Amino acid sequence: MRFSGLRVLKEGLTGNKGWRPHWRDPAPKPEYDLVIIGGGGHGLSTAYYLARDHGLTNVAVLERGYIGGGNIGRNTTIVRANYFLQGNSEFYSHSLKLWEGLEEDLNYNVMHSQRGILNLFHSDGQRDAAARRGNMMLSQGDDAILLGREELRAKVPFLNFDDQRFPLYGALYHPRGGTARHDAVAWGYARGADSRGVDLIQNCEVTGIDVENGRVTGVQTVRGPIRAKKVAMVAAGRSSQVAAMAGMRLPIESHILQAFVTEGLKPVIDHVITFGMGHFYISQSDKGGLVFGGDLDFYASYAARGNLPTVEHVMEAGMALMPMIGKARVLRSWGGIMDMSPDGSPIIDRTPIDGLYVNCGWNYGGFKAVPASGNVFAHLLATDQYHPAATRFRLDRFRTGRGILDEEGTGSQHNLH
Ligand SMILES: Cc1cc2nc3c(=O)[nH]c(=O)nc-3n(C[C@H](O)[C@H](O)[C@H](O)COP(=O)(O)OP(=O)(O)OC[C@H]3O[C@@H](n4cnc5c(N)ncnc54)[C@H](O)[C@@H]3O)c2cc1C
Repeated sequence: MRFSGLRVLKEGLTGNKGWRPHWRDPAPKPEYDLVIIGGGGHGLSTAYYLARDHGLTNVAVLERGYIGGGNIGRNTTIVRANYFLQGNSEFYSHSLKLWEGLEEDLNYNVMHSQRGILNLFHSDGQRDAAARRGNMMLSQGDDAILLGREELRAKVPFLNFDDQRFPLYGALYHPRGGTARHDAVAWGYARGADSRGVDLIQNCEVTGIDVENGRVTGVQTVRGPIRAKKVAMVAAGRSSQVAAMAGMRLPIESHILQAFVTEGLKPVIDHVITFGMGHFYISQSDKGGLVFGGDLDFYASYAARGNLPTVEHVMEAGMALMPMIGKARVLRSWGGIMDMSPDGSPIIDRTPIDGLYVNCGWNYGGFKAVPASGNVFAHLLATDQYHPAATRFRLDRFRTGRGILDEEGTGSQHNLH
C-alpha cells in the first residue's frame, strides 16, 4: 500500500475503505536466520536496512510490548549532526543524510522538520568551544554558523538576554538540525520492514538467550523458543538485562530521563533551542505544545517515570532562559529508560559469543541516530564488517581504554553524559 496525495483523495472520496494495517501480526516461526531483540527505533531500522540493503528477510523483530512503546515514542524528537569528536561526527553526519531522504525512502510522513538548532553560549569560553565545534561540523561537511548576540536576538527575541547570572552571548546555529515525529519514525520503519517480509512480533518478551559451545543458537520467549543463526540485542534501556541472559555484563547503566509538553499554543518557538548553562532544550511541536526536557534523574532505575526534584530543576532552567514559559500550562510529563555508556557514545559491535551482536549505549541521543544505527548495524550483521561510518563504537574500548569517545570531556562515568 503506497501513500500519495492521489491516494488520500481517492480514499476520501470512496469512504476510506481501502486503507490496510501498516504491518501484519504474524505468529513466530520456529526458526529465523536472524532475530532482533527489541522493536524500538533501532531494532526496526536494523530490520528495514537488513531487508532493503542486504536482501535478508528471514528475520524477526521480537518486542516485549508494542511497537513505539519504548524510548522511540518518548523522546523530545531532536535530530542533529553537531558532534565534535571523530568517530561520532561522521556517524551522526551519516544519520542526518539518511534523515534527509527518509520520507521518500519509507514512503511515509515522519514530519522531519529542519527548523534549525540554536545551541546558546553565555561566556567567552563557551563561545570558543562553540566555534571549535562549529569548525569540526564544517570540516565534516555539515553546516554551522556562529551567531553573535544581536543576530541571535533577531531570531529569538523572547529569550532572557540580560539574565544577571546567564547573559546570552550568542549561539552556534545548525540550520539542518530540527525535529521529527518520533512514533511516525517507528511506524514508518516497521511498515517498511514488514512489507519486505520481516516478521514483527509484538507482546513477545525474550526471556533467555541460548548459547551452545560459545555460539548463539536462539532465544527463549514468552511465546516459546525460537532458533536463530544470529541474534541482535537492541533493547536500549534494558540492554543490560537482555545481555545478562547470555551471561554478559555490559558497560551500561540505565537511568531515567523525563520530558514535558505544554498545552497547545500559537506558533512561538521556530527553532530547537538548547540552554548553555543548564541542561534544558525546547522546541514547539506541530500541534503547538512546547516540548522540553533536561537532565537525568541521576540514579539508576528501570522505572519509566521520573521524580519531582528533576521536574523543579527543569522548570527553573526554562524560567531562567525564557520567563514567558511560566505562563504555559504543562499538560503531560513522562520518563524513559536511557542506556548510558561511560563515554556517552554508542556501542555497535559483535560480542565474545559467536553470532551474538549488540547495539546500545544511546544515552540522550539515540533518536537522531535511528537511521544510521540501523544502517550500520545491518551492515555489520550481514557482512561481519564494520561500516565506514561506525568503526569506533567497539565494545572493548572500556576494557582496553583505547578509542574512548568522551564527547563531553567529563571522563568515563555514565551519569555525567
Ligand atoms: C525523555 C527522553 C528524551 C529524549 N530526547 C531525545 C532527543 O531529543 N533526541 C535524541 O536523539 N534522542 C533522545 N532520546 C533518546 C532516544 O529516545 C533513545 O536513545 C532511543 O529511542 C533508544 O533506542 P530505541 O528507539 O531502539 O529504544 P526503545 O524504543 O526503548 O526500544 C527498545 C525496545 O526493546 C524492547 N525490549 C526490552 N527488553 C526486551 C525483551 N527482553 N524482549 C523483547 N523486547 C525487549 C523494549 O520494550 C523497547 O520497545 C530521549 C529519550 C528520552 C527518554
